[in-house]
Amino acid sequence: MPELPEVETVMRGLAPVMEGQVIASVYCGEKGLRFPFPDRLAGRIQHAKIKKLERRAKYILIYLSENNILVIHLGMSGRIRILAPGSNAPPEKHDHFELGLADGHRIILNDARRFGMVFDVAETDFLVHKSFCHLGPEPLLDDFNAGYLREKLKNKSSAIKVAIMDQRLVVGVGNIYACEALYRAGISPIMSAQKVSKAKLEEFVKQIKIVLMQAIAAGGSTLRDHRLPDGDFGYFQQTLNVYGRAGQDCMTWGCEQTIHRIVQAGRSTFYCPHCQK
Ligand SMILES: [Zn+2]
Repeated sequence: MPELPEVETVMRGLAPVMEGQVIASVYCGEKGLRFPFPDRLAGRIQHAKIKKLERRAKYILIYLSENNILVIHLGMSGRIRILAPGSNAPPEKHDHFELGLADGHRIILNDARRFGMVFDVAETDFLVHKSFCHLGPEPLLDDFNAGYLREKLKNKSSAIKVAIMDQRLVVGVGNIYACEALYRAGISPIMSAQKVSKAKLEEFVKQIKIVLMQAIAAGGSTLRDHRLPDGDFGYFQQTLNVYGRAGQDCMTWGCEQTIHRIVQAGRSTFYCPHCQK
């Protein structure tokens, strides 16, 4: 499943191709994705100029002329590929949405499981839209900090691992990154959120930012590797210290524990009971 770093990577890959271009054609597949494509979407976005691309949580925001924003979410299995002008690459099974740009580039959304989303929202309605109004701060921005986290968690008795994955608290700290950041900060995933010390919360915030930035950097290097005419990007390998390592030795020097796996709120948690208190 694409997480925040993958979505950031896709957005950064699309931006130089799309910004400043005009949408010349729009294809919406009959099946729709998680929801049917919105009524008359193609009519609203065709001929629009693309002003800029941004990311919010795991949504790619394509700012268009006429104060409209085209929103793409990759869901569980969404992949975007860019076809260069004149490319004769064949269509693929599960291609559900396509933008043709005036310079001949084609942006194609392929989504085998169809949990993705494509919709548009007026710029003026963005902050009150149901997909965005409840989202917490971006983890890489300064308004996500230890003071903020402490205030939000002071009455939270749920486990810190479960609390940090709540998108209303902070967006984009998915399961892998929650496990990795807790391990690096030495915090037990099962500790009650309100009991984590101030010093540990400081370290936790720092490690969340570091693991996400490292993953984005890894995504940036795959982008460079995939700069082929018919590039497909968005998924990449990253170095994981604890996630997926159940039964293997803890990687902390001098620790002789093995990594444990438990399930919290239906998701796997990997941690070292010795290093994480
Ligand atoms: Zn350990």
